[in-house]
Amino acid sequence: PSTPAVTGRFAPSPSGPLHAGSLIAAVGSYLSARSQGGCWRLRLEDVDEGRVRAGAADAILRQLEAMALDWDGPVLTQSPRKAIYQQALTALQSKGMAYPCACTRRDIRGFGERYPGVCRQGLASGRRARSWRLRVPDTLPLWEDRFHGWQDTPAAQGDPILLRADGYFAYILASVVDDGEQGISEVIRGGDLRALTGTQRYLQSALDLPSPQYGHLPLLCNADGRKLSKSLGSPAWAGEPSQAWEETLRLLGWMTPAGLHGGPAAEWRDWALSRMAEGQLLYRITPLAPTVEQR
Ligand code: GLU
Repeated sequence: PSTPAVTGRFAPSPSGPLHAGSLIAAVGSYLSARSQGGCWRLRLEDVDEGRVRAGAADAILRQLEAMALDWDGPVLTQSPRKAIYQQALTALQSKGMAYPCACTRRDIRGFGERYPGVCRQGLASGRRARSWRLRVPDTLPLWEDRFHGWQDTPAAQGDPILLRADGYFAYILASVVDDGEQGISEVIRGGDLRALTGTQRYLQSALDLPSPQYGHLPLLCNADGRKLSKSLGSPAWAGEPSQAWEETLRLLGWMTPAGLHGGPAAEWRDWALSRMAEGQLLYRITPLAPTVEQR
């Protein structure tokens, strides 16, 4: 059998049910992959076991089913895969690309926005390794976002933690290993991860993994400007799939047909795919209108 050209994915953390912000990533990644005739895979990102809520993983799968977002193959769950993340860390350690860090939370708070790499040259005697970090070069290559164009990596990203002081592997390591494992060729996700993407791409090269293409969708914020998050118990799953489709497509900037209002989720899905086959773009950044100098 020939491998499909595109493999997309949705990778929610089971810290609560999906909300409007996570539905944008689910619907966006689904429509992008399927409109290209590709696969769409699912992964439950539960490495941060302290944030996992009982029943959330199940609730997420039921929400996706209710939205008629059908995934391919088995659902990959991260928590049983620690030995695999450890192998990746060991590989980085043996290449000198990861280093132990002795800094406490308090030290790190004192550094401000960016971890200045104090442990990069080795630990002073008497300092105990608490976590492991990736050694990232000062400048990283530009990368091209499907929607936003060429992107730089903000200096504030610094050297990310790979293995945390509490013994859990960090999101960046697990997600990069698993995008490789699941053969992911495109990542369409929420805008909050845009700044980290250059570092993720560097980690892929350090682990000899291919880099997928990336596209970041609008990030929804609540009234006080904070990102909607599952762990903050954000509202939004009205429990009504038709409404969820309609609202999500509108947030992506689509015109939605009145005739489908209240219609079955599978009809919304098929309508959206048929629109894309006719040339509708999943998402387009609207350029600012040029300003005219006032005289
Ligand atoms: N698990 C992350 C989240 O729920 C998404 C990670 C990703 O798409 O790379 O925010």
